[in-house]
Amino acid sequence: MPEKKRPVIGSVWLAGCSGCHMSLLDIDERLLTVLESADFAATPITDFKLGSFPHCDVGLVEGAVTNTDNIEFLKEMREKSDFLISLGDCAGWGCVPFMRNFFPLQEVVEHGYIHTSSTVDGHIPDDPELPTYLEKVQPIRKFVSVDFHIPGCPPSADTIFYVIAELLGGRVPEGIPQPLLHFD
Ligand code: SF4
Repeated sequence: MPEKKRPVIGSVWLAGCSGCHMSLLDIDERLLTVLESADFAATPITDFKLGSFPHCDVGLVEGAVTNTDNIEFLKEMREKSDFLISLGDCAGWGCVPFMRNFFPLQEVVEHGYIHTSSTVDGHIPDDPELPTYLEKVQPIRKFVSVDFHIPGCPPSADTIFYVIAELLGGRVPEGIPQPLLHFD
C-alpha cells in the first residue's frame, strides 16, 4: 500500500512585524505535535525565489500587501496552496501597515528615508529592481481568495494551534471557538 502523503505547510510574511509568526512559535512543544504529522516546506526564513514556492496543503500568510513584490508572491502562493489562511489582522484588514494610508505615499517614503531623526544624508532608494510601493496598503483578500482568517494582533498561539490541528485532523474549522476570541 502506498505511504500516505504527509501534509505540507508553508508560511510567509509580507508587510508585518513578525509578531504573528512569533505567536506561531509560541505554540511551543505543540510544534512537535504538528511536526509529527506534517512538514513545513517554507517559512519566512526560507530562501526561495519567486516561482519556486513549494506546493502546500496549508499556506499561512502574515502581513498586508504594500508593494508589487507582495502581490506577485501572494498570487503564486495562492496558486500553490490548497487552503490559504490570512494569519492575523495585517493580512486580514491591514492593521498597523494600514496606518500609512492616512498620509500621501510620497510623504511616508520621505519620512522613512530622509526625515527621521537618525538619518543623515538620506535618500529614497531607486534601484529599478526594487518593488514599487502601492498607493495604499491592502489586505491580502484584495488580491487573492482566502479560505480562512485567523484574527488577532497577533492571534494567540492557542488559536493558531487550534486551526492547524483541525486542518491536520481533516476538519475545516467553521470559525474560531468563542473562548479563543480574546485579547491577552
Ligand atoms: Fe504584527 Fe499584529 Fe500585524 Fe501580526 S497582525 S504582523 S502581530 S502588527
